[in-house]
Amino acid sequence: MSLRAAVVDRADALACDLDLNHVKEWLAEVPGRKAAGYLPVYAPRELIAAVGMLPVGVHGGGDRLEIIKGDACYQSYICHLPRSVVELLLAGRLDCLSAVLFPSTCDVIRNLSGIWKLQKPGTYVRYLDLPQVLDPSIGVPFWTMEMEHVLGELAELAGCEDPKGGLRQAIADYNAVRERLQVLYAHRRDRPWDIPTAELYLLMRALESLPAQTWMDLSADYLSAIEQEPGRPRDNCRVVLTGAFCEQPPLGLLKTIERAGCYIVDDDLLQGNRMLQGPVSTDGDPVQALAEAFIYTSVKNSVIYEDDPDGKRNLMKTRVEAARADGIVFAAPSFCDPALLDRPMLRAGAEAAGIPCIAFKYAENTGQFQPFREQAGTFSDSIKLWGAG
Ligand code: SF4
Repeated sequence: MSLRAAVVDRADALACDLDLNHVKEWLAEVPGRKAAGYLPVYAPRELIAAVGMLPVGVHGGGDRLEIIKGDACYQSYICHLPRSVVELLLAGRLDCLSAVLFPSTCDVIRNLSGIWKLQKPGTYVRYLDLPQVLDPSIGVPFWTMEMEHVLGELAELAGCEDPKGGLRQAIADYNAVRERLQVLYAHRRDRPWDIPTAELYLLMRALESLPAQTWMDLSADYLSAIEQEPGRPRDNCRVVLTGAFCEQPPLGLLKTIERAGCYIVDDDLLQGNRMLQGPVSTDGDPVQALAEAFIYTSVKNSVIYEDDPDGKRNLMKTRVEAARADGIVFAAPSFCDPALLDRPMLRAGAEAAGIPCIAFKYAENTGQFQPFREQAGTFSDSIKLWGAG
């Protein structure tokens, strides 16, 4: 097996591990270890790593899980993610998580925190109010105070005596991760034939269930592999994929878009991994440094309030230019309020700038890709025939 195939296989196995067996193995290696989950889109996983716990992204069952009990907890007109998370929860498949953080992404995630509390009263469940006011004089102290509470409570749960020291190390570890992700995304932007988006996505999923240093080794292997086995360019157009920041599309959908002729050269998949765009300062108080990084460097997205009236209008043009893309694929989970409320503003701004767009909705368990293949294929052909703009 080639190095690339070995890395991708390992990452795929982690993404498919609905019983979190890899987490249980990590826990069993050292008695007393604990793991903590976090829901999308962004939770500061440095706080979890700081106290010696393993941060684990909770993403539901994708297209590998039959939903029975999960449907009983929710009305039909909300997205799929909470149903499959509840299905896993009620089946006891997430019981190895001693704590779970629920960021203020949307009402669905908020309500899911309540269900978790009711169903697993022994688990530390914490709703995280992310700052929606990015004025530093308000947002930094607010977010610092909120994270101080969470860090203190996690430290107590983990029996950690020096959470601030641990946080300094965790910030340094995840700064290295952020830098590596920038390298991977820049490489895919410049040579998308080397890094299929499905592979980059699996690598990012692995990041959500491995310790930072282990993931650094895995991603270093991947970078070596693409040096050894570069891909061959194809006559594809280049697109930005947006709207997929929370509930994740099935892997087959990402492969379908690229096989239909659209290289994805920028995306917001698993956005939480790239929420902070620069390194977090390792000087001074580490909690405040993390808060400042959020206020000053967080990427513009649909789950954070935008105070610039032209912000949404100009955002996609800026992203398309940065990625040297030809067009935009708006891909959002069905019934996703944050993505679908933003879409008309984002699309209007993009079309006013002459950027070709297509749009569709998906669910994490979508199984039929033919309509997407036809839509993406026609989009790619039209760009190649008539060009962008
Ligand atoms: S997919 Fe959208 S609506 Fe559903 S939990 Fe995520 S952000 Fe909320």
